[in-house]
Amino acid sequence: MSRSVGTPPLVLSAQEVRQRALLRYADDGLVLLDRSGEVIEVGPSYPRVLGYAPEKRCKMRTTALIHPDDLDCWHQAWAELMARPGGTSALVLRARHGDGQWCSLDLTFHNGLDDPDVQGVVATVRNLSKRHGGETRRSGQQGVFEDLPDRQDLLGRLTEAVARLRAYSQVLVLVVKLDQLHLVARACGRDQAAQLLAAAARRLRRDLRTCDDLGVLGDDRLVVICETHTGKREANGLAKRVAACFSEPFRIEDDQVVLTASIGIALAIDPGADASALLEDADLAMASASTAGGNRRVFFSPAERADAISRVTLPAALRQALADNEFVVHYQPVVELSTGRTVGAEALVRWAHADGTLAGPDSFIGAAEASGVIGALGAWVLQEACETALRWPAGPGGPAYVAVNLSAHQLEDPGLPAVVRKVLSGTGLGPSRLTLEVTESVLVVDPEAAIRRLRALRDLGVRIAIDDFGTGYSSLSYLKALPADVLKIDRSFVTGLGADPADAAIVGAVLALAEALGLDVVAEGVETDTQAAELRRLGCPHAQGYLFGRPCPADRLAGSLLCPGLPTDTGS
Ligand code: C2E
Ligand code: MG
Ligand code: MG
Repeated sequence: MSRSVGTPPLVLSAQEVRQRALLRYADDGLVLLDRSGEVIEVGPSYPRVLGYAPEKRCKMRTTALIHPDDLDCWHQAWAELMARPGGTSALVLRARHGDGQWCSLDLTFHNGLDDPDVQGVVATVRNLSKRHGGETRRSGQQGVFEDLPDRQDLLGRLTEAVARLRAYSQVLVLVVKLDQLHLVARACGRDQAAQLLAAAARRLRRDLRTCDDLGVLGDDRLVVICETHTGKREANGLAKRVAACFSEPFRIEDDQVVLTASIGIALAIDPGADASALLEDADLAMASASTAGGNRRVFFSPAERADAISRVTLPAALRQALADNEFVVHYQPVVELSTGRTVGAEALVRWAHADGTLAGPDSFIGAAEASGVIGALGAWVLQEACETALRWPAGPGGPAYVAVNLSAHQLEDPGLPAVVRKVLSGTGLGPSRLTLEVTESVLVVDPEAAIRRLRALRDLGVRIAIDDFGTGYSSLSYLKALPADVLKIDRSFVTGLGADPADAAIVGAVLALAEALGLDVVAEGVETDTQAAELRRLGCPHAQGYLFGRPCPADRLAGSLLCPGLPTDTGS
């Protein structure tokens, strides 16, 4: 394949010697390719650019050098170049560096196949990743983050990456927030939270390509900048890899913490894109992911801006709604599976807007928690639910208890037991008729403190239920120490009952565990007769779900209990 271009003439003129020396010192490599894209000849600096020893002269096949994800893009660009004799094109793609890592190459092609002096395609090759080698990273950060680029530095790198945007290439910006970091900061202090973020960054760095940038934004977010061709596909893959990085527990002193991440993604295809707007877009998308409950990825879209505005105004609107009495509580029956009898009801809050729409808790509980409104809202729901429960028909026909949800923020409030005591004594509801539901997430960061607080509540005589059981990461060893009375099996395990044997196995295992620990069980989200039959077969005592009744206003629930034929379905 090699031809005479590389064979030196016997005598070189002084000018030719100088030109060769210039090529040797060039930062960019030159390479001559044939019609099929294979190497004919390389310039003296090309092996250095790619990190190979000069004698190797990069004899690898071109396609073997290119990252598999970028091959489609290479073939497409090459086909287009071949159709344009004398034409030029440019491409950024990843190639195997001599050190075994992937590096980003900026390639410019001139199709000289028709030029008798060239008879090939001349490619200029620049290694965009080499700055990650010897060059030390500048950072304004102190302490644990001093080796990571900060916002200023990230903006510089993003501006460079955007400026390099060419046909087929895109720049991805991922803002990654660890969902549990604020809980760690509150329970263990800001230093521990910073150490945790730094440990997360180290894991992420190991998993990223050398050509990707990783930095830190503020004191609670990491940022990844990645140049790519495959846009959303690459972004999804990258976001999955980022999330997987945290699935192994982290150590905080003697405890282990499992982290999840809210990931916001913005994509630039336009060389005119503004770096700081891009970073802000990814940050807004991250905030949407976080508000929606975390542990998810969200691509930026203009709707995120509207959401962000409403997030800023939401806390004040929530306070106003509380003052204007716009919240209502709906109740969903909990039934005994063997008889179908209603034994309790769960209180579920809704926001009745002035325009007649009813907003579900998922759209505002997060904001209520973040803004501190949850304390007042939670106390209002508790008061309302206890007053309602007192009005339910006594005896076997009526719900014996009302279950009220508590968020992790409410549980952290040392004043909570006093609030519960006051509501119980004020309404006169017996404590045994109140169940407080908490999710396993309250155990994730500081299980001992959570257990102490739950014990203080239980000492009042109320029952404690573990909601959405099976979806958190709480250690089973804490379960036996947990002052709980009820496990509520999450809907995700109930959905597949009758179809997926794995769900039956999980539900069976939870039932066996509950029996061994002396706990009651409620299966959540039962929608079909098949699921109910399967739960009965497995010996599950209680259930809740649309099959038995949707959440509905208090008077409608009471009506349906007195006249069992009455529908409870509100469609909420
Ligand atoms: P949760 O405590 O797990 O409540 C059960 C949720 O599942 C409710 O959604 C209920 O409407 C829904 N659900 C019940 N049966 C079915 C079914 O058969 N199929 C399906 N697809 N869904 C079913 P909702 O009312 O939207 O509440 C969502 C979450 O919001 C609750 O989950 C709870 O964690 C939280 N929440 C509700 N009210 C309050 C409150 O007053 N305070 C706090 N802190 N959290 C609340
Ligand atoms: Mg609940
Ligand atoms: Mg639940």
